[in-house]
Amino acid sequence: MQVGECIKKARWGESFSQEELVSMLSYAPASPEAYALLAEARRVSEEVTGGKAEIHGQFALDLAPCTRNCLWCSFAECNQIFKESWQINAEDAVSSAVRFEQEGANAVLTMTTADYPLWKMLEMAREIRRHIRPDTPLIANTGDKTLAQAEKMKDAGFDGVYHALRLDEGRRNRIHPGKRLETIRNFQEAGLWVGTCVEPIGPEHSNEELAHLILFTAGLHPAFSGAARRIPVPNTELAKYGMISELRMAQIVAVTRLAMPRGTRGNCTHEPCTLGALGGATLFWAEVGANPRDDQEKTEENRGKDVGICRELFTEAAWEILEGPSQHFMQAPEPRAPVETPPAVAQ
Ligand code: SF4
Repeated sequence: MQVGECIKKARWGESFSQEELVSMLSYAPASPEAYALLAEARRVSEEVTGGKAEIHGQFALDLAPCTRNCLWCSFAECNQIFKESWQINAEDAVSSAVRFEQEGANAVLTMTTADYPLWKMLEMAREIRRHIRPDTPLIANTGDKTLAQAEKMKDAGFDGVYHALRLDEGRRNRIHPGKRLETIRNFQEAGLWVGTCVEPIGPEHSNEELAHLILFTAGLHPAFSGAARRIPVPNTELAKYGMISELRMAQIVAVTRLAMPRGTRGNCTHEPCTLGALGGATLFWAEVGANPRDDQEKTEENRGKDVGICRELFTEAAWEILEGPSQHFMQAPEPRAPVETPPAVAQ
């Protein structure tokens, strides 16, 4: 498929097939065709967001060696990066959430490792909710949950979740891909918004695998989608594969935007970068505390970016930044068609 045809289809808001996505992903990242896709994705992002990018602030409620053993994650027990565990208390959680809000973050996220107790997360959510503005979305980035657990999260004050079916789920970790889809459905059934992403992308992933996962995320009609590269955690098995370039990541971010339904407003990328924003990324995360891509306990002293840096990166890419609560979680979701786990990652 010629790039001009792709752009015409995007202008009409049409959906793309697996083959069409593969052809868009197959252009060399520095080719005129790939640049044309970045420009069109940016145009679509501006159209659906009203030209306003967003910054969400994520902080960790805990750090612990995690038994799910995702090979790309610094918390994975098998990677032996962190041997000790800690959990922050409610006072510190509230202080991080309020600080993000004061710095201008459009939503606040709590992140936990997979075994963090639900009762504690609910307690934290209630406490945070009492202290942040009622219209600031509170989002959880946590492990798989049943419908009953998801409903409790909603009752405790969460508005949404970040949850993803990751590349290599079930092959490079101990989580069955079907569990991820089941959990996403539970969250949606409980009335929680779901934001997701095509991640963590390494140089070894084929265009076919990426296209399958892009279509999977589009079928979820998420609040936001996007794409993120895998950051090699030093001295881990996957570090030998290296990392895709920011430009290649921007291309995947752009193709993901073009493939999403227009009702999906947000298009994320991580880690924050100007090339991602150039290709239509409209959501960056600022981070505090533990971070699964970092081998330091306080990511704000190493890889993590703060709200101010995220703001600068968007500004360098000539984006305006939304003031006030996120718009990703305000629009009524479109009807959802059944989706299946992509064959490339299914067991
Ligand atoms: S990505 Fe999540 S589930 Fe996987 S090892 Fe890290 S904390 Fe555990």
